[in-house]
Amino acid sequence: MRKLALLVLPLLLGAVRARAQTSDPVLNRIWAIGMDSTHTPELAQQLLDSIGPRLAGSPGQRRAQDWLISTYAGWGIGAKNERYGTWRGWRRGASHIDLVTPRVRTLEATMVGYSPGTGGRDVTAGTIVLPRFADSAAFVRWLPQARGKLVLVSAPQPTCRPTEDWTQFATPASRARMDTLRTAINREWAGPDVRGTGYSLALAGGSLGLRLDQAGVAGVVTSRPTNALGTRSVFETYNTKSPTISVSCEDYSLLFRLTEHGSNPTIRMNLDAELLGEQPMFNTIATVRGSEKPDEYVMLSAHFDSWDAASGATDNGTGTITMLEAMRILRQVYPHPKRSIVVGHWTGEENGLVGSHAFREDHPEIVKGLHALFNQDNGTGRIVNMSAGGLVNADVHLRAYLDRLPAELRSQINYSGVGTPAGGGSDNASFACAGLPGFSLGSLSWNYGTETWHTERDTYDKIVFDDLKANATLTAMLVYLASEDPTMITRERADLAKVMEEQRARAIAASAGAPQRLPQGPATWPECGVAPRTTSPRLR
Ligand SMILES: [Zn+2]
Repeated sequence: MRKLALLVLPLLLGAVRARAQTSDPVLNRIWAIGMDSTHTPELAQQLLDSIGPRLAGSPGQRRAQDWLISTYAGWGIGAKNERYGTWRGWRRGASHIDLVTPRVRTLEATMVGYSPGTGGRDVTAGTIVLPRFADSAAFVRWLPQARGKLVLVSAPQPTCRPTEDWTQFATPASRARMDTLRTAINREWAGPDVRGTGYSLALAGGSLGLRLDQAGVAGVVTSRPTNALGTRSVFETYNTKSPTISVSCEDYSLLFRLTEHGSNPTIRMNLDAELLGEQPMFNTIATVRGSEKPDEYVMLSAHFDSWDAASGATDNGTGTITMLEAMRILRQVYPHPKRSIVVGHWTGEENGLVGSHAFREDHPEIVKGLHALFNQDNGTGRIVNMSAGGLVNADVHLRAYLDRLPAELRSQINYSGVGTPAGGGSDNASFACAGLPGFSLGSLSWNYGTETWHTERDTYDKIVFDDLKANATLTAMLVYLASEDPTMITRERADLAKVMEEQRARAIAASAGAPQRLPQGPATWPECGVAPRTTSPRLR
């Protein structure tokens, strides 16, 4: 042990002593505070463990927003909740879901967001599989048979192993058989006409869920496994009477097989939930007013809302904490910025970038004076991808900022030049669509798409704190450099067709003429939609 300590200790000390050397003392202090005395673990623990998920319209979201404001207040930074509309509200209580016959098993299952509960009572019901119908009329004729039953509406996966396992271990013939089977089953149980019903299964319930709700089913049973072992995504329902539950791949396929084989499985559920009607919705906005150019703005941006089957750790707890921690650092190192620094902690992102769209609509002064906005929203990994979002002059400014970063941070960033504007995906798109300089800080994946994005595994333990503290440090540096920039970024748009042509030529050259996939991008500048400031009346 002692020998090991002697070997390891100098390495550890070396890491702690490492100092970024730049010619700018402010950048060096940002590095020192961000890398050596990070607050990211405490912030993450408070937000993700103690408060938890932040579903639109939920009491958890309001509690989390109060926490944001008091956290900022503790650092002497002013923040407030800015109302922009309403969204349907919902309180998640406990889900208890057990298979009771033909054998007992507590199922890995929970309500999807906004599901009605069972009024605190046990409800026991049998299952039925959604059959294949000749047409929608046949489906409607079948509906009375589903009354009082739990209807299985998701694809029965022939394997709950990820593709990686099949690639590594299956014989080629077996792998090919599985691929064909999976493709056929997933096609049959998806799209606008699930199993010939004429109804869709968007997110959790879709129009099929609503039709079953109307028909008086006991519940809707769904499963959306991702391509990672033991992981599924959990979204929402618009049902108002029959609960909608999400079941793990393994337990869903168990229920499916038992039902198909005539074992008449029954499930007992006790679900506590409350539909709260339309609730006021707010963005939380923190501001440090500029000392020289208060009408010009540098923005930090990360959505604050989350889906609620886990705690929204990487979507978008990590983006949130990146921005919060960057502000904590800047408050100490750079308390009197030249430009105004504004943080947008948006809500309603998961419902269609609602909060950030509304903010842009409500703030003509920011539309006029926005110098740069930095948005992060794709997981816990270190920031490795940036571009100027299709703005020619922004390319010149961003290159200058990147050149001033310490080598430790600069070397990790694959900067792709002028690039193209975001057409959606996260809140920078709400600004890019208006031709504003809204940039994405793109993170390394850490299997975000399969393991944590909208899944019931998106929890504190998935955070990579070494990456997170580096991201907060990098963001603080970019904000400082943007605030100090002697000239404002102008907004000439690139010729997007030409940018894409160049990107494709580069991909072809880099792959010796055989690229796996050619880069895709918009041919025309994306347009701004109108923020839907209430839940669609059709679905309320
Ligand atoms: Zn997100």
